[in-house]
This record gives sequence, C-alpha cells and structure tokens, in this order.
Amino acid sequence: MKQYDYLLVGSGLFAGVFAYFAGKQGKKCLVLEKRDHLGGNIYCEETEGIHVHKYGAHIFHTSSREVWDFVNSLAEFNRYTNSPVANYKGEMYNMPFNMNTFSRMWGISTPEEAKKIIQEQRKVIKGEPKNLEEQAISLVGTHIYQKLVKGYTEKQWGRECKDLPAFIIKRLPVRYTYDNNYFNDLYQGIPMGGYNVIIDKLFAGCEVRLGTDYLENKKEYDALAEKVVYTGTIDSYFGYRFGRLQYRSLRFETEVLDTDNFQGNAVINYTDRETPYTRIIEHKHFEFGTQEKTVITKEYPAEWTEGMEPYYPVNDEKNQELYKRYEALAAEEKNVIFGGRLAEYRYYDMDKVIESAFACVKKEFHGINIAADHR
Ligand code: FAD
Repeated sequence: MKQYDYLLVGSGLFAGVFAYFAGKQGKKCLVLEKRDHLGGNIYCEETEGIHVHKYGAHIFHTSSREVWDFVNSLAEFNRYTNSPVANYKGEMYNMPFNMNTFSRMWGISTPEEAKKIIQEQRKVIKGEPKNLEEQAISLVGTHIYQKLVKGYTEKQWGRECKDLPAFIIKRLPVRYTYDNNYFNDLYQGIPMGGYNVIIDKLFAGCEVRLGTDYLENKKEYDALAEKVVYTGTIDSYFGYRFGRLQYRSLRFETEVLDTDNFQGNAVINYTDRETPYTRIIEHKHFEFGTQEKTVITKEYPAEWTEGMEPYYPVNDEKNQELYKRYEALAAEEKNVIFGGRLAEYRYYDMDKVIESAFACVKKEFHGINIAADHR
C-alpha cells in the first residue's frame, strides 16, 4: 500500500474540490504545487489590507444552486455585482451595452429609440459578415462598434478587426433595460475575506508541498500515491510529444496609490486603441473597501511564449486537433485523473470548474451525495 491515496498536482479549484471530498471520504492526499502558494488562479495577495486578485479579476457567478450552496458553505459572499464601465477617450459608458449606454451615447431615453438607431446602423452590412468588424457592426451598429468594441478587441488580439475572423464574436449582448449587471446568472458575489478563505478550507486536511514541480520528479512522486489527479497542462504531461498547445496570456502591472479611491469602480475597460492596456482593476471595490490607500492593476493582453502564464486556450482548429491527440493519450493513462482548465485545455469559469470537479468526485466516490456531504 502506498503512502497516500491521492497525489494532487496543482492546487486550483479543481484539485481543491477534489481534495475536500476525498478528505470527507477519509482519503489521504498529498498536494504538489509549483507556485509558492495554494489556490491556482483565484489566489489573492494581501496588500494594504486589500485582497489583490493576483492572476486577474475574479468575480464569482453561477446559476447552479448546488455550486452556490457549496461555496457559501465555505465562505460568506458579499453583494458585489459586476458592473464594468468603459472609458472611451474620457467618455464613460456603462456595460454591458444597455439603456444607460445608449442614453449616454445618443441622448435618448426609450428602448424604442435605441432599437431604431441600432437597426439603422446595422443595415450598413449587407450579406454575410466577412470579418470581425462587419460581424460586430451587424450586431450592434457603427457607433457602439467604433467606441466600445473596435479598440478593445484590437488590443486583445493584437490585430485589426478587419483582419480577424467573424466567428470570434458570435454575439454581443445588447440589453434594452437600464440594467448594468454584467452577468445574467442567478447568484453573484465575492467571498468576504477573499478567495483564500475558500482555498484554505478546501485543502485543510491535505499535506502540501509548495514550490514543487511534479514533472521534474514524476516517477518518484507517482510512487507515493495510489492515484494522481493532474491539473497542469496536458501537453507538458506527455513531454510535448505532438507539439505545444498555444495560449493567450496577460501581463499585469500592479501599483499601490496614495489615494482612497482611484476610479470609483472595480473594473474600468479602456476601449480606445491608443491606451495600451485593456482594463484597470481597482481591487478594493470588490469588497467595498474603506482602506486609506488603493491598489490598481493594469491589464495588458500578451502573446503567450514559453515561461509566461498560460491564461486562455486558443480555440482554433489546429489547437483543438492537437488537444484531441493528447486527450486520447490521457484516456489510456492508468490511475490518473486529468481535470481543470489546463489538463482539459478549455476555458472554465469558476462555477463550471467546480461542477466538473463535482462530476469527477461523484464518479470516483460512487454514491457520494455532494449536497449532504458538505453541510
Ligand atoms: P488553476 O487555477 O490554473 O490551477 C492549476 C494549478 O496547477 C496552478 O496553481 C499551477 O501552478 C499548478 N500546476 C501546473 N502544473 C504543475 C506541475 N507540473 N506541478 C505542480 N503544480 C502545477 N472565472 C470566473 O468564474 N469569474 C471570473 O471573473 C474569472 N476571471 C478570470 C480571469 C482570468 C484572467 C483568468 C485566466 C481566468 C478567470 N476565471 C474566472 C477562470 C478561473 O480562473 C478558473 O475557472 C479556475 O481558476 C480554474 O481552476 P483550475 O484548478 O482548473 O486551474
């Protein structure tokens, strides 16, 4: 018999949810994490008494009652509602595009007036949109495209909208109500005390080794546990045998400012082409902070190269085909569970990664009742 029942590679939400339920089943887990902290991308660093979302702003939202009950059993959530604002050359517009946005843009007040203007502007595009620019105009008209979509998208992709394929934007939500809530989900909020409160509870019963890369001593670590739950990148697990999967990355510039309120909102998007960053996050506003100072993070989109954090998988055919080849290898791997955003090469919101970990736990521990078990 081996020393541990499970070796968890990585300490993000997927591994955390697994660890939590494995612990409830009396299983012994060892966690290996190559960073110097637990939590994966939801980790918060405390600066000036403010919980700084180190790997990008994280807002919890879900329509799943099961997931919401679960996270609320781990932390109390505040009433934060994501209502980003767009700054286009000093003009401030509410997001997502709604009656507040239209009223500011055209000085109108009713949904009927807004619909009429957008319908008129959409007519500029005749036939099937040939590129992202035409696609966006066919969805929201020329004014919203020019001021709120074009520059932001070009910064995100590092290319002109005219040179980007139409399929990247399938829909641009337009709301004919005065509702600035970015998400349509039933539940939303930020854990009071930051995400680390949740992370600490998820891994409470585990032995943890930080600053430890599983792949550097794979054989040795495999010998320690009956089964591996692997949440790192799938191509690295197989030694990049078929080549590397591609990602989009981000660069963050964080600074402490000697003011108690820099921008009046947690998230402000810069939608012009000239400002080099896409967003500024002011972290204290996620938790209605009253600290004397503030911490802001400027977000710069970046091409991913070796050594950078892999944030977003590139969802094109080439990468999906490559992933499928790795996925087939993974299916053959004995006593290894592949889970989470890196091992499954897909973008998961937090609630979705929890749902997928629930499914994994239910399969692994037959008959386990998630709802009853976490109360
Ligand atoms: P991760 O959190 O990435 O955890 C994987 C861990 O494995 C990492 O800590 C990594 O260091 C470790 N690891 C990898 N390889 C090895 C190895 N070889 N050895 C040891 N350790 C290893 N979701 C929302 O719902 N709302 C949001 O607002 C939101 N904002 C986001 C913003 C950004 C910029 C990004 C990138 C994502 C955002 N998400 C958001 C998604 C959210 O971050 C994910 O759903 C969640 O973090 C995924 O958890 P995970 O366990 O799959 O992966």
